[in-house]
Amino acid sequence: MAFDCDLFVIGGGSGGVRAARVSASGGASVALAEEYRMGGTCVIRGCVPKKLMVFASGYRDMFEDARAYGWDIADGTFNWSTLKGRMHNELDRLEGIYRKLLDGSGVEVFDSRATVKDAHTVLLADGTEKTAKHILVATGGRPALPDMPNADLGMTSNDIFLMDEMPKSILIVGGGYIASEFACILNGLGVEVTQFYRGDQILRGFDDEARGLVADQMTQNGVDLHLGTNIAEMMLEKDRDPDGAVPTSQQSGRQGPVWVKATDGTERAYDAVMFATGRSPNTDGLGLSDAGVEIGLRGEVVVDDYSQTAVPSIYAIGDVTNRVQLTPVAIREGMAFVETVFNGNPTKPDHELIPSAIFTQPEMGTIGLSEEDARAQEAIEVYATSFKPMQQAFAGREDRVLMKLVVSQATRKVLGCHIVADHAGEMIQLAGVAIKMGATKEDFDRTVAVHPTVSEELVTMKEPVRTA
Ligand code: NDP
Repeated sequence: MAFDCDLFVIGGGSGGVRAARVSASGGASVALAEEYRMGGTCVIRGCVPKKLMVFASGYRDMFEDARAYGWDIADGTFNWSTLKGRMHNELDRLEGIYRKLLDGSGVEVFDSRATVKDAHTVLLADGTEKTAKHILVATGGRPALPDMPNADLGMTSNDIFLMDEMPKSILIVGGGYIASEFACILNGLGVEVTQFYRGDQILRGFDDEARGLVADQMTQNGVDLHLGTNIAEMMLEKDRDPDGAVPTSQQSGRQGPVWVKATDGTERAYDAVMFATGRSPNTDGLGLSDAGVEIGLRGEVVVDDYSQTAVPSIYAIGDVTNRVQLTPVAIREGMAFVETVFNGNPTKPDHELIPSAIFTQPEMGTIGLSEEDARAQEAIEVYATSFKPMQQAFAGREDRVLMKLVVSQATRKVLGCHIVADHAGEMIQLAGVAIKMGATKEDFDRTVAVHPTVSEELVTMKEPVRTA
């Protein structure tokens, strides 16, 4: 049977664009449909604008520290509309690059929603049908609101980048990456931030000592963090007290301050509420079940180790598969798909020992097992040191950093590395190479320290602080 193309990719995010580009460069005829903007969550409403906001939020402390270093400098004021304008220009530029790369590789792009009609047919929003030998679903995910009355009064991370004005106060609900990162960003930009997390410590699943230090420093920096707390009830302040004096909303597009009653019984109104309570795979209305693709309990596309679905001609990569929700992982999955399907070299994406960073202030960089998970697996030694780094200590700050290695007693391999410090993301990328190669504690010890740096502690820790 002759198909219109070899590959039809649904979704123009990091994973879909990479798979389309690389397979087209290898000679396949490829089409790609994207219903919104090219670049997906990472470029348009995730990693990239988030990181720009992280940079912006760091300047408040830098002004203060600069004075300790001899600079005669006054505190500046932050102007959101300046950053927003420049940030969106940058996103436009990056989106343009994504399009250019697709064009340059010969990928036919449809700016349209696309759904799956059957194992080899994609239906575009205008009714056009395109047949393809293979279909790749790379539709990503979206923020999930909790199932509670009036949850739609809350914003999500998607809305933050589009706000007309900064709220004066915000309640952020959740304790994961997104909640904790935005709590720090908005706190740094001068917003009064309250964070509710229902569990006993934010960043569940990460090393306890590392996430404890992040939480302590966030609190010290001004985030009003409430653990074991959730929203019990919420409504517009004006609906709760129709006769009361209601301040006009600071936010265009929002309907005014939101009154919140917490599970601990406290009540107050916030200019804005943001839910960062997880993300759901984008599979609704895609036609996948009808085509025979298995959908999991969380709405994810179920795939095997090669990203193949229950329908052999349909594959899925990235957040829509709810494996590891990270851009570089989606890209790896896309590359493995191309190897498997177009290069005759069946390749499983490698999900072992993935380094990642949480861009809180302080940042956390992590790879491998937490102390708790390693301890449950085998006998370990823990090497850790926490101290005031020179740069901040000189400026009179109380900030502490953590450098931690979790080591197997049997093999001496470093099973986990956890760093809480400025630029921890940069450090863990490099430590990650060694750990991925199977470095032992003795390999770290053999490496000469770079002095004076924060990360030199990773190669100078002599005695374990604990064995277990
Ligand atoms: P996460 O799954 O990391 O966190 C969701 C948080 O919301 C958890 O703290 C969870 O609590 C809480 N929660 C869930 N449901 C409710 C509810 N009904 N009421 C109250 N709290 C609730 O999701 P995120 O949205 O933060 O991030 C999604 C993914 O995006 C991450 O897993 C990560 O892979 C990726 N990401 C990566 C970044 C990076 O690399 N720097 C940055 C941002 C996102 P509990 O722990 O109790 O379940």
